[in-house]
Amino acid sequence: MSTNTPSYPPSVPTERELTDFGVQRVQHENIFSDTWHAQHYVEQRVFDIRHARPPEKPLVLFREKHVSWLMRHLQYLPRGSESFDVLQGWSCFWIVHSLNLLGATIPVPTASMVVKHLATFKDPVVGGYGGGPGQSSHLASSFSVIMTLCGLGTEEALMSIDSVSLLRFILQMKQADGSFRVSFGGETDVRAMYCAICIASIVGLLKGVEAEKITRGCASYVKSLQGFDGGLGGEPGAESHGGNSFCGLATLVILDELDAVDTGALLDWAVMRQMAYEGGFQGRTNKLVDSCYSFWVGSLFPLLGLKARAPAGMSKLFDADALQRYVLECAQLENGGFRDKPGTSRDLMHSCYALSGLSIAQHFGEAKHDAKNEVKKVDPVFNIAEDKINYVKEFFSQT
Ligand SMILES: [Zn+2]
Repeated sequence: MSTNTPSYPPSVPTERELTDFGVQRVQHENIFSDTWHAQHYVEQRVFDIRHARPPEKPLVLFREKHVSWLMRHLQYLPRGSESFDVLQGWSCFWIVHSLNLLGATIPVPTASMVVKHLATFKDPVVGGYGGGPGQSSHLASSFSVIMTLCGLGTEEALMSIDSVSLLRFILQMKQADGSFRVSFGGETDVRAMYCAICIASIVGLLKGVEAEKITRGCASYVKSLQGFDGGLGGEPGAESHGGNSFCGLATLVILDELDAVDTGALLDWAVMRQMAYEGGFQGRTNKLVDSCYSFWVGSLFPLLGLKARAPAGMSKLFDADALQRYVLECAQLENGGFRDKPGTSRDLMHSCYALSGLSIAQHFGEAKHDAKNEVKKVDPVFNIAEDKINYVKEFFSQT
């Protein structure tokens, strides 16, 4: 077998490829559980993809393909979404944020159409926004609408945000133990808290007279989420999870209360989530790699770095090259969009968070890349392109 003259497509793996695979893949230790089989299957698919790509072929971000796929969805969504779809605001956010990271310009008439459509999600009675026109208000829906409007960043979009109505809804969701309910009769968890604190912060509510009512008990609630392994669960006693760890930690960063949790233990937990062979992150212990955790777990490193006032200070504690490689090689599709992992289909959610994670790898890690593959720098607290969030903060500081 020659390792010097790779042919395309290669007929047999190189010795180097086989050695890397043998060392890094999961060991079965003679226990062939369902989870071992699932992990083995994913690793084999990743290996096949890597083996089929000649080593000299550079990784490429298929920017134009992603932009045209996302733009098609943006044109179609406001008219085409079913009225009962509760993710209409989320779909808008995933598309707009992805386009921003890719450096695409959303035409003003299209942005205006989205703003007008999102305005129909407002609940005039309790405040906030529902998941679609006529739906009940929900903190996650309100978050997705506000973040879409911030991502669009036009004056029309930002002027359409009614902070008084938003405050009314957020205060109705606040619970005695400091947590937030997602909706009337809904569950309380750290996602609801992050959504509330994030949008309250952006529109300036944490500087107002009601700030104490919003933030009371938040830090101690997040502290109660930290598990024995250092990660944060969604509610007290729940299993540590990448998305919930992000929500809890980002909340503490906004409130300047990072010391409420054991950040060293959380960092240990985050470090262990990067998959040895695939290079992407898993969201929980003993689970499969998934591109959306490229952001949820990847962002924990710059957020933890903020404690030392150095967001890039944790860059050596995750392998940014490996993360970038997983996103571009295994999650990206050549005809546009990103998927969770090889063998699954592309979707808007994974496209958004894979690109956000790519930005973390490039701007807060040490991922080597050339200008053609670079995406915009993301703000790891708010998950909006940095230039957009800076403009939005400036806008609301003057209103
Ligand atoms: Zn996922």
